[in-house]
Amino acid sequence: MMYRDLRNRVMVAALIAGAMVTAPFSALGQKASPVAPREEQVRSVVTRAYDVYKSDTSGKNADYIPFLAQVDSSMFGVAVVSTDNKVFTTGEIKYSFSIQSISKVFTLALALEELGPDRVFQRVGSEPTGRAFNSPIAVVDMPSHTANPLVNAGAIATTSLISGANADEKWNKILAFYSKAAGEKLSLIDEVYKSEAATNDGNKALSYLLKKYERIYADPFESVDIYTKQCSVGVNVEQLARMGATLANNGVNPVTGERVIKAENIPYILSAMMMAGLYDGSGGWAWKVGLPAKSGVGGGIVAVMPGKGAIAVFSPRLDDAGNSVKAQKVIEYVSKNLDYNLFTPGSVGLK
Ligand code: GLU
Repeated sequence: MMYRDLRNRVMVAALIAGAMVTAPFSALGQKASPVAPREEQVRSVVTRAYDVYKSDTSGKNADYIPFLAQVDSSMFGVAVVSTDNKVFTTGEIKYSFSIQSISKVFTLALALEELGPDRVFQRVGSEPTGRAFNSPIAVVDMPSHTANPLVNAGAIATTSLISGANADEKWNKILAFYSKAAGEKLSLIDEVYKSEAATNDGNKALSYLLKKYERIYADPFESVDIYTKQCSVGVNVEQLARMGATLANNGVNPVTGERVIKAENIPYILSAMMMAGLYDGSGGWAWKVGLPAKSGVGGGIVAVMPGKGAIAVFSPRLDDAGNSVKAQKVIEYVSKNLDYNLFTPGSVGLK
């Protein structure tokens, strides 16, 4: 278990150097949110949640991607990164799991940077499907066919929007963008990519269905291949929490201070997460937790507390909708106990 406060370290270093500490934090991030829980509260509630759920063994690993079936299902890690760059982590924090569907959020962010919200909305849409994340029936039935950027069909269409002279250029741009959001260089987990590329006929079928409806904007198989690569990017829980904290911090990475996403695009991304981030479990999630979040079949979930920070949890056992069981439970517990739920007036300071 570890608590790090870069700001304090900088202050201590400055004091040791005998410097006057007038505005020591400006380069490292925003001022603390006036309505965010204090760091001791965060540490104590997250530690309790970890202890309460650590021996929960419900759910099972995704197995339609062969690599994921053999990931150690007992791994369990939690990270919270605040908008003022405080980090709290516990459990398995080193393991790089595949980001899977959580990547969809950041490709959406990149598409918004390149095209702006109106054009992305026109081309992809923003409606929930009420069906499984990879449903071809939703493609046929939904008036927009793509539904929204966070289900597979809409995500493949979103990936197809990213500009570049060729597939490599598009892929490298996506990876560089994710790395900026995480505040460090991320890379592809080759074994995951190979395992998924050998078994992604369903996604290829979706891309061709989209072509039939003229709702894919580059070569369908090239788009599926780039999408498969983006899903195979490795992150540990802390990197994932930092990606979420970049969203919570209005698009500026709280660790590097770099602007990654235009502030005006953040509400579109968070509303998409609120509406479809946990697939057809999204309604229940909104009801119980009240936070924009995104899950991936690799076992990760990241939830965003706007203006305050983000929490990421990794645990590979999933429920029937494809969402990590333990991650949902931990985030629900933390959201309730720290007044993070956006629909609670207490979350913005009304007591
Ligand atoms: N790569 C996975 C797929 O396309 C992502 C699904 C997920 O994480 O929910 O099936």
